[in-house]
Amino acid sequence: MEVAADKEMPEGYGGAGAGAERHSAMADDQRYVMHTYARAPVVLVRGEGAWVWDSEGRAYLDFLAGISVNNVGHCHPRVVAAIKAQCDRLLHCSNLYYSEPQARLARRLAEISLGGRVFFCQSGAEANEAAIKLARKHYWDRGGAAGEPRILTFRGAFHGRTLAALAATGRYTEGFAPLPAGFEQLPFNDLAAAEAAMGPDVAAVLVEPVQGEGGVVPAEPAFLAGLRRLCDEQGALLIFDEVQTGMGRTGRLFAYQRFGVEPDVMTLAKALGGGLPIGAVVARKDVAASFQPGDHGSTFGGNPVACSGALAALEVLIEEDLPARAERVGRYLAARLAELAARHEVVREVRGLGLMLGMVLHVPGQKVVDACRERGLLLNCTAQRVLRFLPPLVITEADVDRAVAILDEALAETPLPIPGRKG
Ligand code: PLP
Repeated sequence: MEVAADKEMPEGYGGAGAGAERHSAMADDQRYVMHTYARAPVVLVRGEGAWVWDSEGRAYLDFLAGISVNNVGHCHPRVVAAIKAQCDRLLHCSNLYYSEPQARLARRLAEISLGGRVFFCQSGAEANEAAIKLARKHYWDRGGAAGEPRILTFRGAFHGRTLAALAATGRYTEGFAPLPAGFEQLPFNDLAAAEAAMGPDVAAVLVEPVQGEGGVVPAEPAFLAGLRRLCDEQGALLIFDEVQTGMGRTGRLFAYQRFGVEPDVMTLAKALGGGLPIGAVVARKDVAASFQPGDHGSTFGGNPVACSGALAALEVLIEEDLPARAERVGRYLAARLAELAARHEVVREVRGLGLMLGMVLHVPGQKVVDACRERGLLLNCTAQRVLRFLPPLVITEADVDRAVAILDEALAETPLPIPGRKG
């Protein structure tokens, strides 16, 4: 299929010498960058809206969006302008002083979500680390049960790669012992198990409203409502990890609004900065009060450039009503994926919310991802068999049609391992 014949390579990229640029970037990366990622052989050099271009001038429709970072599209002009303007004024200042973009962003986030106060950091893992520390400190402050508190988390979760976030995740831990103690993992969407595990020594329950890395698995509304009740009964905090689900992804600004269950604490990162690295913990005011000067900190947390990007991205999300668009176009994408599921035996199920969708296969999905990329469509595979769709929220129905046509071809090349039998 002619993927992107209408997408011209912008001036100054590709053309003569571009191949050399690609090879030197790949060679230098392989030689000098630690091998923590299995990268595809593509060097991306530019992005605009739902499209990115590689160093050889090839265009790709981006249905991964930096793993749910570029929700307002690549290089949204308002985000870029805000960042540039801030760069001319002040790149960085210490958290020993006040900063206008940081204060404004905290106010905006509090106003549109839980009220309370915000702590800023750089990433999702750091936001979860901060939330874990806050939950323990709050437990200590309120004189919780004697002994060390527990934090309940769920199988299939992903909360990041730092040590406590990894302990909360409960996977990818081999070789990294000793991990911080105090985390207990329970089956996801199993309220009875949570009820049995709950006790006065539980400081918090940490949960993703839709598990992302775990295979795009939405929580059941009754499960989240039940967790809210259990936390209220014991005085434990309910923490939602909205690092992937936040910023419009599931059809509301935050997924908790969609489920109608309000957490005490919410962690954000990924799309918050419109493409710049920033993470945040938003907490109810009385909970936030447990952090006092010296309890937690981060040199770059709330950096003025990152906060300016975040403020602009938030304005774009709200003014362009991108959550509603995620809901509408997400429904269209889900319906088109369901058509493919009906035609391709290798597909087991399509699931998700808004523009956070997963197509579960009967076979590992990496070959489908590679075949799509070769045809000009970026997506990824998580939990081995789940093709994950996290496009920018600005995509159109025509973009969906284009992506589905490419995926259709890639799936046609992916037979079931035992012909005629679903695994
Ligand atoms: N929490 C969730 C739900 C995530 O999806 C991720 C990343 O994929 C993280 C936390 C970790 O975020 P980061 O990679 O910014 O540390």
